[in-house]
Parts: sequence; C-alpha cells; structure tokens
Amino acid sequence: MIDFSYTENQLMVRDMAREVATRVIVPTISEFDRAQKMNPDLLPAMRKANLLGFCIPEAYGGLGMDYISLGLASEELEYGDTAARVILSVHIGLYSLPLLTWGNEEQKQKYLVPAAKGEKLGTFGLTEPAAGSDVVGLQTTAVRDGDHYILNGEKMWISLADVADYFLIFAWTDLEKKKNRDHTGISAFLVEREMAGVSTASIHGKLGVRAGNTGSISMMDVKVPKENLVYKEGYGFKIAMFCLDQGRYTVAAGSCGLIKACRDACTKYMFERQTFGTKIANYQLVKQMLANMEAGYESSTLLWLKAGWKKNRGERNTRETSMAKWVACREAEAAAANAVQVFGAYGFSDEYPVERFYRNAKGASIYEGTREVHTLMQADYVLGLREDKELERDLPVVEG
Ligand SMILES: Cc1cc2nc3c(=O)[nH]c(=O)nc-3n(C[C@H](O)[C@H](O)[C@H](O)COP(=O)(O)OP(=O)(O)OC[C@H]3O[C@@H](n4cnc5c(N)ncnc54)[C@H](O)[C@@H]3O)c2cc1C
Repeated sequence: MIDFSYTENQLMVRDMAREVATRVIVPTISEFDRAQKMNPDLLPAMRKANLLGFCIPEAYGGLGMDYISLGLASEELEYGDTAARVILSVHIGLYSLPLLTWGNEEQKQKYLVPAAKGEKLGTFGLTEPAAGSDVVGLQTTAVRDGDHYILNGEKMWISLADVADYFLIFAWTDLEKKKNRDHTGISAFLVEREMAGVSTASIHGKLGVRAGNTGSISMMDVKVPKENLVYKEGYGFKIAMFCLDQGRYTVAAGSCGLIKACRDACTKYMFERQTFGTKIANYQLVKQMLANMEAGYESSTLLWLKAGWKKNRGERNTRETSMAKWVACREAEAAAANAVQVFGAYGFSDEYPVERFYRNAKGASIYEGTREVHTLMQADYVLGLREDKELERDLPVVEG
C-alpha cells in the first residue's frame, strides 16, 4: 500500500523545524550570510527544539522519530537557509546515525547519547586537501601503538570543523593496502577535539553556506584509544559510504526546501513587479520558470520519500538515495538560477534572498558526492556494473 499522508509525529517534527526556521533563521540570515558567521542563537534553538537528536532512539537520548521526519526537518531548515540544514546533515546524517548502526554499546553511551541530547556536536572527516571524490586517495594514517592508534593527517572542507566536539575520522590502518589503493585498509575512528594534537581552522570566502562553518582538522600524533576504532579495522570505507547514504538523504530533502523558497519568493515577486503595464505573472515565459520549479519540487520530493520509506524498513537504499540527491540538487540549482532570472537585476543583489539561494544551491552539487559521481553511479546501476548488497550490520527499522 502506498500512503502519502504524514503521521502526527512526522508533522510535529516538521513544525518544530519550521518554527526554528521562521523565528531564528529567516529574520537574521542576510546579516549572518553577509558577515560569513554562524548565528549564535541557532544551535541553542535547535537543541531546545530537540532537532539535534530527534531520529535517534529514546534509549540513546533521542526522540525515536523516523527517516521521513528527518527529511521533513531537512526541508524546513533549508527553506530558512542551507547552513542550518547542513547541521542536521553532518550531526545526525554523517555522525549520529552511523554511530547508531556501527558503534558498539560503550561508544554509543559515550559518543552518541550526548550528541542525541544536543550536549555535544559531531561531524564527519573524510575529505582531505588532495582527496575528495577519490576517497582511497586520502593520506591520513592511524598506526597501532599498544593500546592506542597514532593519527596523523589533514582533513579539509569539513562542515562544523571549528564547532564540533567529536569527529568521525577516516584513516589508513594498513599501509600496504594504502600503497595498492585497496579500500579495505581504511578504518574509522572517534576523535575528540580535546585530544592532544588536534587543531581546527575555518575556511573563509566560500561561495555559499556562508552562515555555516566549514573548515579543516589537523591531526599531529594524536593518541586515540583503541576503543575508539569504530566496528573493525578495514571497515572505514564501508562506514563512510553508509554515512553518505544518510547525509545525502538530508541534502536531497533539504534541496526541496531550497526549491520551495525559490518558488515562494518568485510567486510573490511575480505579482508585485510590473513591466509594460502588467504584472510579470502574466507572462508565459516567466510562468514557465515557476512551473519548472514546481515540477522540480514535486519530483524531487517523491524521490526522497521513496528513499526514506526504504530506510524506515531497514532496507539498503544507496541507489534510491543517490538518485534523490542527484536529481534534487540539479533541480535546486535550476530553480535558483531561474529565481535570479525572475527577479531581474534585483535578483542580482543581496537585497532579495534569491542570490543566496543561487550560491547555496551550487554547493550541494559538489558535497556528498558530486553531480558527476552520482551520474556515474546511476549509469552503473542501470548497466549492471553496480549493485547494492546487504550490509554486515542490521539497519534499524523505524515506525513512521
Ligand atoms: C560546503 C562544503 C561542505 C563540505 N562538508 C564536508 C564534510 O563535512 N566532510 C567531508 O568529509 N567533506 C566535506 N566536503 C567535501 C566534499 O565532500 C568534496 O568537496 C567532494 O567530495 C568533492 O571532492 P573535491 O572537492 O576534492 O573534488 P574532486 O574530487 O577533486 O573533483 C573535481 C571535479 O572532477 C570531477 N570528478 C572527479 N572524479 C571523477 C570521475 N571519476 N569521473 C568523473 N568526474 C570526476 C568531480 O565531479 C568534480 O567536478 C564539503 C564540501 C563543501 C563545498
């Protein structure tokens, strides 16, 4: 049976996120975006509204909500600003949900519970200065030394790098496999900001997500207890891909929020702006751009809902999530470009929000798998060159 209605719990989460977006993000976003700073009120507001752990089970400090709720919250936050949705993407998608699946009980108590309660913030450190799409090109190493691993390396373009408390870090534990680019030599580790040898910095001058923090993490001889190895040695690549399945899902749903923000801004402007003695809402060529936004919103929404449905059932969903992320980001880029067009010269200035939508939309076709990476994945699925196998870990089944 297919049912497109939302449950009361899903609507409750959507409304919590909408309230934060309306009250905290929208009124101040142009100021913080221009200043390239995070709004200091945003994280406390998200924490208070339980938005930092709502889809983690109650047993681990969350509210036990499902993946559809996660999608709805992502959409609402990105309607306010992409930087706010990024917080959900990294803290819940790329850090907490993977820890729920791959972490052991001690790790969950120590590193997941405080994150789900919003007391600590987590992020995901995969990318390096010379390795983005090419994950096995990463250079960070983790060498076993008695009861510890010694980590050395540099992570780059990490969301919340200068803000998060905990980092899920990917590093080579098998240096022979590193030489052969065999991904089964990569492992995942829980690293704390307070560990000696860890330092972070922020990147300034970004095209978009300016009201969010993005930066680098440097690790110099960081002594990480062996208990902080996630799952087993050699599983880092698989864990990283699992993380991306969750993060990409929030990017897909979030992109729908950005499309909707473009659509709503254009709808209002089309009735206000007059040329040649009539409202621009009367021109078919302008209507075409609005109609395309609506088609992009509806089709992208169906794609993330399908991925979320599979996630709730505990089924592998890499293919569906990649499709949702790829299409939604493409539609968001197109919607934002058209929104600037609808606004004419005013769209070209930061007097209106559409130029920010345009800059923010570009980033989502780069992070969490570039447009090209998803294109190749989808072609390979069709060609039979790629298939999703079940994981060694059971995926959580959630009631919607
Ligand atoms: C705002 C922002 C936030 C981010 N947050 C995080 C984070 O929290 N954690 C994290 O680990 N990373 C993060 N990243 C990094 C992001 O995931 C990488 O930028 C992304 O994976 C692409 O890697 P790259 O930038 O090195 O590009 P490259 O991999 O160098 O790619 C350059 C170009 O070549 C193309 N290309 C590369 N390989 C192929 C191929 N085989 N076939 C066809 N085309 C190819 C790409 O599509 C792209 O167009 C973030 C990036 C941004 C911009």
